[in-house]
Amino acid sequence: MSVALTLTEPRPRRAAPRHLAELDPAECRSVLTDIGQPAFRAKQLRNQYFGRYVGDATLMTDLPAAAREAIGEALLPRLLEPVRLDDCDAGETVKAVWRLHDGALVESVIMAYPDRVTACVSSQAGCGMACPFCATGQAGLTRNLTTAEIVDQVVNCARIAAERGLGRLSHIVFMGMGEPLANWPRLKAALRRITDPVPDGVGLSARHVTVSTVGLVPAMRKLADEGLPVTLAVSLHAPDDELRDELVPVNTRWKVAEVLEAAWEYAAVTKRRVSIEYAMIRDVNDQPWRADLLGKLLAGKLVHVNLIPLNPTPGSRWDASPKPVEAEFVRRLREAGVPTTVRDTRGQEIDGACGQLAASEREAGSAGPSEAPASAGAAS
Ligand code: SAH
Repeated sequence: MSVALTLTEPRPRRAAPRHLAELDPAECRSVLTDIGQPAFRAKQLRNQYFGRYVGDATLMTDLPAAAREAIGEALLPRLLEPVRLDDCDAGETVKAVWRLHDGALVESVIMAYPDRVTACVSSQAGCGMACPFCATGQAGLTRNLTTAEIVDQVVNCARIAAERGLGRLSHIVFMGMGEPLANWPRLKAALRRITDPVPDGVGLSARHVTVSTVGLVPAMRKLADEGLPVTLAVSLHAPDDELRDELVPVNTRWKVAEVLEAAWEYAAVTKRRVSIEYAMIRDVNDQPWRADLLGKLLAGKLVHVNLIPLNPTPGSRWDASPKPVEAEFVRRLREAGVPTTVRDTRGQEIDGACGQLAASEREAGSAGPSEAPASAGAAS
């Protein structure tokens, strides 16, 4: 199966409704004034939504009962309709499938750890980057998510984590569906809403937010210019252009050397360690010589390598590297002085692991063999 790389921006099929999640305080006050409400309600609403993760105006008891419906209609339309909510790993991984106002489907994954709760969120419905080992990439791009759709995933994940006793949401990774830097203007606004302090935003530390990219060099530079110290993760997957052209097709546009150059600029501007993602694919990119070449490219840089055991996707000819091969790859990178870790593989049974997110495919066809039964919990 081969899918074409899409670098142009698709138009949304229908405008998404306006939502509090994408408004700054002044915009929010002006909407309230327009519907005949006092501007001070903006702060109440924002405290409820960004601080307490309440997305339904009828539940906001600090608003007059008679005003709740009008305020809800103007500022809190339902953006994400829960389609399913599955969990695994003893309840510590939860995958949510959401239906958007136009029927597009996206997924978010919540992962609870002893010291943190991470939400993996989507930036697009589908993806146009066409990486052949990634389930999302196989379906192509449906559309960009709006800022509000991105932020509302974060708020919904925070609420689900709290409701399930998993703890307070602390980290966000843009490693769900889509290429975040291909949706730059919406991503940029979402990063503000996510990191601005309550009641202006969700109040997460920028250091706890990771933006993962295939290496869209111009947008990597824009991200550096934002002055927000978010963590940048680069999906490298091969140290040489010949193989990377195949594994990450956008490499035909921006080569390994250019992508790494932009990554080092990012590290220099933000003083943040850049994360290099490398999916370990058996007999494809896991040879000792590739470990050595990667080590040479990265040695001495402000960098960390995250090896991801490949999650084979349906119909793919590729498999994960055997553990001893992976261990040797790690050893060689460390020997070159490059800090390296292997990512845990959360969420596999619910198709919630890296590269497994493919809601639209699953909805269109029948349930795959690994589809887990829906959990008893409801999203609301
Ligand atoms: N578009 C962004 C976010 C994608 S998902 C990016 O490419 O960085 C986050 C990571 O999961 C990326 O490094 C991606 O390459 C990786 N990934 C995709 N499919 C995978 C699979 N089947 N197994 C393991 N990792 C995968």
